[in-house]
Amino acid sequence: MKLRIAVLAGDGIGPEVTNEATGILRAVAELGGHDFVFTPGLIGGIAITETGSPLPAATLELALDSDAVFLGAVGDNKFAALSPDKRPEAGLLQIRQALGGFANLRPSVAYAELAGNSPLRPEVTEGVDILFVRELLGGLYFGAPRWWDRDSGESVNTMRYTKGEVVRVARVAFSLAEKRRKKVTSVDKANVLEVSQLWRATVTEVARDYPDVTLEHQLVDSMAMHLMNIPRNFDVVLTENLFGDILSDEAAVITGSLGMLPSATIGGAVNLYEPVHGSAPDIAGTGKANPLGAILTAAMVLRHSAHLEAEAAAIEHAVQHVLAAGHRTADLARGSDPTHAIVSTSQMGKLVHQALTEAIDRRQSMHAV
Ligand code: NAD
Repeated sequence: MKLRIAVLAGDGIGPEVTNEATGILRAVAELGGHDFVFTPGLIGGIAITETGSPLPAATLELALDSDAVFLGAVGDNKFAALSPDKRPEAGLLQIRQALGGFANLRPSVAYAELAGNSPLRPEVTEGVDILFVRELLGGLYFGAPRWWDRDSGESVNTMRYTKGEVVRVARVAFSLAEKRRKKVTSVDKANVLEVSQLWRATVTEVARDYPDVTLEHQLVDSMAMHLMNIPRNFDVVLTENLFGDILSDEAAVITGSLGMLPSATIGGAVNLYEPVHGSAPDIAGTGKANPLGAILTAAMVLRHSAHLEAEAAAIEHAVQHVLAAGHRTADLARGSDPTHAIVSTSQMGKLVHQALTEAIDRRQSMHAV
């Protein structure tokens, strides 16, 4: 299969982790006979330095002309004095808006091998595998009117959703649940907010088209507690914009490190894939960055843009295999046993590459028998 991927590595550790993630995608292409074309583009601080803009027109054109966009991270302290619309992060907001994805997917997976890294007890995190589907273009963050009147000391934001906006993101959640453990938990505040009442009624209506999927509703406040007490109970969690922003970060602690978290934004003109972490200027260039979040993001590219589910799962298994063998980047060393080997960004990439190649070779030789 052919896939054109725009690679926007960005700033800080962005290029380091992106290099490992694209290395894994190249390996998948080679092993499976796929034609993946990678085209680099500028975004963030590096783009300001070279072109004066955090999102140059050429990058936007490249992104819109691709099948998928892979973004590393943006952010550079050197531009901290600029106004927000001129800083590297503005490039990120602009590209997200231009690509128009309305469903943000954030997996929160507990790796048994990293149980000691989570602040939650291992018996709570064991087996947790949650996929957040967060609506990204509506709700309080975009609703109008919005204002802050400094003279009167009053301000307003508007939480607004149309039925159509809820239907399209709910369909994403149910379709993904069909391929997983067939459960959707929809989060709202329907006991207080009319917007949530529309949300709940609409999600209930959409659920009728997915008879194999069980739907449950949770109020956002109880959901915040359940995520810490019984996270194993959840499969796909469907939320509006603000609730998802907060809850997906809460659930991220289950994984134990920011460096382990992938994400995808789908439903727009082109899907956008990015690890959750930022440019981590404190460790940039030291070889300490954990590339696994970016590598797991590469798995999401295969799952959601290339529809290569077996290959996506093979990457995820390879990551698990490398962790089980005791390899850790510095951020994962906390709480681990002294026999674990601390490896650099590129060493971790090579280990995953090796585990992936071995797994695919094994599968091919089994098929040949
Ligand atoms: P950050 O995610 O860059 O770093 C937070 C902490 O986590 C740091 O101590 C960092 O060393 C560590 N960390 C992050 N990713 C890691 C990885 N892969 N491996 C090991 N350790 C990792 O967040 P921050 O420090 O708040 O922001 C730094 C810059 O990144 C800022 O300019 C911010 O605006 C930007 N930012 C960008 C994005 C993005 O590009 N999506 C997201 C968040 C922050």
